[in-house]
Amino acid sequence: MTNEVQLFDVVIIGGGPGGYAAALYGASAGLNVALIERDKVGGTCLHRGCVPAKEFLETAHVRRTIEHASTFGIGTGAVSVDFSVSQARKNEVVDKLHKGLSGLLKGRKVTIYEGTARLDADQVVRILDGADAGVEAKGTNVILAAGSVPRTLPGFDVDGQIVLTSDEFLDLDTLPASAAVIGGGAIGCEFASMLSDMGTAVTVLEGLPTILAGCDSEVVSVVGRSFKKRGIEVRAGVNVTGHTPAKGKTAVHVEGGDDVVVEVVVLAVGRRPRSEGLLGDGTGVEVNERGFVVANSSMRTANPNVYAIGDIVANTPQLAHVGFAEAIVAIKTILGEPVVPVDYDRVPWAIYSNPEVAFVGLTEAAAKERGYEVVVKKDPFGGNSRAQIIGETEGVVKIIAEKRADGTAGQILGVHMAGPWVTEQLGAGYYAVNWEATAEEAAALIQPHPSLSETFGETLLALAGRGLHVG
Ligand code: FAD
Repeated sequence: MTNEVQLFDVVIIGGGPGGYAAALYGASAGLNVALIERDKVGGTCLHRGCVPAKEFLETAHVRRTIEHASTFGIGTGAVSVDFSVSQARKNEVVDKLHKGLSGLLKGRKVTIYEGTARLDADQVVRILDGADAGVEAKGTNVILAAGSVPRTLPGFDVDGQIVLTSDEFLDLDTLPASAAVIGGGAIGCEFASMLSDMGTAVTVLEGLPTILAGCDSEVVSVVGRSFKKRGIEVRAGVNVTGHTPAKGKTAVHVEGGDDVVVEVVVLAVGRRPRSEGLLGDGTGVEVNERGFVVANSSMRTANPNVYAIGDIVANTPQLAHVGFAEAIVAIKTILGEPVVPVDYDRVPWAIYSNPEVAFVGLTEAAAKERGYEVVVKKDPFGGNSRAQIIGETEGVVKIIAEKRADGTAGQILGVHMAGPWVTEQLGAGYYAVNWEATAEEAAALIQPHPSLSETFGETLLALAGRGLHVG
């Protein structure tokens, strides 16, 4: 490999959703782009995150469907589980998507380098190891998209046998009979829900006063009730201090409380930025005390020719689609085009637990904290005909609007849903919040019948002052 410095319009470090989106979007605008990846393009999302986790949640969904088949008059016999088949299917899905993505990048003539990269001064990126070790690529602009890795907890050494992070969990071929999930956020609740639906006895241990902190309280209640009904034990507001393995199990110690004795401990306590070793001397990039890269609303770091996107950026939600959106902002800024920054208060959130959760905008509590007077309407899924047809009636749609001087509902501030397929229904709520629609404007639009999305439509009608089924 030549030691000549390779020149590009944009050099991107990291090929996860942030990095590959920037590469595809930049290349389609005619930029000469290099993408450096130490592992596989697709990143956490495709190989160790969103896609594998959802495949397993779909396995759980299939099992639930079969278990309820007799209510439709369908006989199935006893349900058996061979989780290694689901694992193999997950790998097939991931491989197909990985091949598709690699082909897309190639088709757009993105130069891919394999290895671990470090940004040095003057936008020179050096590849330190891997197949392309020794290559130096200089970008007129550089985008940092190195992503994140699972956080761990003191007292819980990850061994891949008893203590697992999401990385090891998503590679399991068999499921444990019992598990403690430490952390009741989105990932923790998805894992707890999946495990429980697959027959594992699950305890969720959460340090904050509630699971799904940051979600609207109504939505948290729906998930909490469902977890309780299914036998998932949730212990919130607890501090775990360590664990003591014995005879194929381990006792997780909870400060001031009983131990939880389980086969496996799954850590779901957040993700830290992968910024160690990423920056050499003289880059001018600011990194905060927690290791996140500081970027402004154009995704520019303290060095105006270096951008950061995705999970590595400070104070932004760690979501794949946020990385996509930030990639577009960074590339448009590089191109000198007008750009609308990502409005982090109004990005869509989707949690694929059973029941699912989806939301956008302010919760009722957050709206009040910000000084809004609000009008709130909610409608449970119980009265929805499609929900009755599919036999999944647990859940609610809740919409929060700003209260006008005359007491009626004005601009929609937040849409919060828990229930069947709400992750696929959030789109309309997302548009309503981001288009800054009023209750009447959004209520004037029709939802198809019979559909789960009618519950959203019904809630809007009620919010606008006159509901059909909701008062
Ligand atoms: P990453 O996806 O982490 O990619 C970074 C890439 O950079 C990696 O491929 C890494 O190998 C590479 N890299 C790092 N350092 C270097 C270097 N120095 N040189 C070269 N390459 C480097 N988000 C959602 O929106 N929806 C979900 O349903 C969802 N579910 C999730 C479930 C789980 C279990 C997990 C763990 C995460 C989930 N996420 C979900 C979060 C989502 O995966 C991340 O937000 C997303 O992957 C972040 O994208 P990124 O490009 O910033 O970083």
